[in-house]
Amino acid sequence: MSQSNRRTFFLQVAACGGVLAALQVQAQGAKVDEKDPQAQALGYVHDTTKADGKKFPKHANDQKCGTCALYQGKAGDAAGGCPLFAGKQVAAGGWCSAWAKKP
Ligand code: SF4
Repeated sequence: MSQSNRRTFFLQVAACGGVLAALQVQAQGAKVDEKDPQAQALGYVHDTTKADGKKFPKHANDQKCGTCALYQGKAGDAAGGCPLFAGKQVAAGGWCSAWAKKP
């Protein structure tokens, strides 16, 4: 492989890596917007300590998406999927009124 062919090859590999990273972000989805109507209806917040305690008196700060039965992220992930917000990501430290303890 000539010097310039090698350079082109590495540039192509780098470009492919960038495209894959972009696709991965797309597959994982963007973070849920707290102002999204569905998020508002469920009282979703990115930070469980910011949940509206007056509106949701059963809320407790140890209730988080990361400990919710519906959370699809892995332990240690900052965010993950949730069937209530299809195609979007909820924060591991987030919360909504549909929280249910992980069995
Ligand atoms: S259902 Fe569970 S994982 Fe989904 S947003 Fe509500 S608390 Fe988070």
